Amino acid sequence: MQSKNHKSLLLVLIFCVLSFELYAQSCEFERVSFTANFETARLNSCKKLSEDHYLLTTNPENRPINPSPWYAFKVEPKEQGSSNSIKITIQAERAKPRYLPKISKDRQTWKNLPFVVKNNQLTFKVTAFQDSYIAAQEIIDNNHYLSWINEIAQSSSFSQINLGHSTLGRPIEGLISLRDNNNEWLLVIGRQHPPEVTGALALLGFVEQLAQPTQIQQAFLQRFNVLIIPNLNPDGVASGNWRHNNKGIDLNRDWGKFTQLETALVKAKLDSLLKASQHLVFAVDFHSTQQDIFYTMPTDYNVAPSQFTNDWLAKIKSQTVASFVVRPKPGSSPGRGVFKQFIADEYKVHAVTFEIGDNTQRELIDHLAKTSGLTLMEHMLETPSQAFIFSAADP
Ligand SMILES: [Zn+2]
Repeated sequence: MQSKNHKSLLLVLIFCVLSFELYAQSCEFERVSFTANFETARLNSCKKLSEDHYLLTTNPENRPINPSPWYAFKVEPKEQGSSNSIKITIQAERAKPRYLPKISKDRQTWKNLPFVVKNNQLTFKVTAFQDSYIAAQEIIDNNHYLSWINEIAQSSSFSQINLGHSTLGRPIEGLISLRDNNNEWLLVIGRQHPPEVTGALALLGFVEQLAQPTQIQQAFLQRFNVLIIPNLNPDGVASGNWRHNNKGIDLNRDWGKFTQLETALVKAKLDSLLKASQHLVFAVDFHSTQQDIFYTMPTDYNVAPSQFTNDWLAKIKSQTVASFVVRPKPGSSPGRGVFKQFIADEYKVHAVTFEIGDNTQRELIDHLAKTSGLTLMEHMLETPSQAFIFSAADP
């Protein structure tokens, strides 16, 4: 009995320590509080510099890391309705700022905040604020994906599927269009890197276009099956990670190795789908970086058809607004665990890392995403099945 009580007490203590760890990032000051007790939040420490100036810090989940200092927190004045005005400086541990501050009351509509950068610190003023969210980019959390997937599944011919669970037990959900007579597959994945929200926005628009019951879509789904996994790193998203999953691993360096649950789930799903005459013909992986870039496989790599991606990008170029610059960057990186490289090596077909600029205008992202979806369907339909089969004799 005694030892059982001790055990329970120990469990309660462990729970308290864990909860504290989880919500330790809430800071209370006389005039204002900063809280980080919601999914995607990241705030590691706070310091009052003067009466109305606060220094907030964001730290990476672990190192080494390719730094993309994410931050997201709630700021609340102590007296509701008061029109406090404060200055916030954000400092990232051993990293330059990457994301420009945005503010929202409802997490739906976001406004850019004017800022200055000095000594790698980002400083901005929040005036006349009520309870508000401040974040590095728009907040797209795990629930957003779950309800979006549900909505698409309800309103289109795509069905919802569950691939399994992440390291911390979060569902990894997807959408699928599967017709028994189809042999060719398109794979779309996203959010390997949690802060890359512009890539996430592009994936949403792209998939919404694939789900639209247009004439071209109907022809497309008559021939091609589609698997979409929009949110591959739900633990990283929930924790407000800079880049990694809960185990501190960069998922886009794990393809082919499959040491992580999340990447291994996708491989297992592909293995179960791509049996007998079934084969993958193309794959797209959505990310964000400084500018809009398409990382492609070189045309002389062992993939078929050799010009497939170039021809698709030419279509995008001809159908997007004139101001959009298509920047293809062909390259290969064998053995590094990158998704597009794995697809090329394993299935001998093209794959693209579709990178959206961090600050690309949101209307342009949507337009680009929809144009990309539409032109990809056209282009895949125009490509004969045989052309997707690599043969060593190909040029
Ligand atoms: Zn990325």
